[in-house]
Amino acid sequence: MKKNFRKQWSFAIISFITMLAMVFPSSGAPARGKITGVDSASISGWAWNPEDTNDVQQVELHIFRSGKSEPIKYLHVTADQYREDLAADLKDGWHGFSVKIDWSEFEGSDFKIKAYTVKDDKYYTLGETVSYSKGSSKAVQNAARDTGKSTTKDAANTAAKASGSSSSEASQTASAGSEAGQSLGVFSISGYCNCEKCSGGHKVTYSGKVPQAGHTIAADLSVLPLGSRVRIGSTVYTVEDKGSAIQGHKIDIYYDTHDKAIAHGRTSQEVFLLR
Ligand SMILES: [Zn+2]
Repeated sequence: MKKNFRKQWSFAIISFITMLAMVFPSSGAPARGKITGVDSASISGWAWNPEDTNDVQQVELHIFRSGKSEPIKYLHVTADQYREDLAADLKDGWHGFSVKIDWSEFEGSDFKIKAYTVKDDKYYTLGETVSYSKGSSKAVQNAARDTGKSTTKDAANTAAKASGSSSSEASQTASAGSEAGQSLGVFSISGYCNCEKCSGGHKVTYSGKVPQAGHTIAADLSVLPLGSRVRIGSTVYTVEDKGSAIQGHKIDIYYDTHDKAIAHGRTSQEVFLLR
């Protein structure tokens, strides 16, 4: 009788520990990284093991309908694609991932995405959960900066409140820790470079400055005068250029190659003016 009782207890304790392990996947992860962009066709991000950069990360993405705890889709992708922003920030660019997704196959409009790295059948959480609404585009640039500190969430909430915006977009983009700024609304945003096709061969901007990727944008100077600093996603840009097609609520982001400019496509993103 006594023995049996003890057995039951040890079973209960083991079950409890197993349950805890399932609910809280190990955070002693060998890899770091995050989801950095979600749009109508793909999810992208990066993952790496800073202690062993040859250790290629297998990433698993779990897609949830907003408010539900059971994933509706699992996607697997290897984080071995080259990204220039990682090359700059991590000194090693070969840890990006991008996977196609067709949101139209799901019912509903609001989703959550969780990323994990999988190693020896163990799951390690990668960055924070990202929310996504059908038809929107979410880009978190300068994404290589570290993630995963619990304080960033509070900071993001505070920042979103401070800017008077309660949208999940604002709390998401502010999570990179940048200044929130004042919302100017949603702009139509495209990419350009200094090639003949994009800039007619002009190697310097209208302001006279040499354009820099991750910094220079072209805007309608009657909307955003030269020198204006704006935040798009988590990147702060400075207006240094203009363009004949850039009128009203349009912004052209400078990239250092034509391929990257084209890859930006056309996105609609909220733009925040910084002081
Ligand atoms: Zn170009």
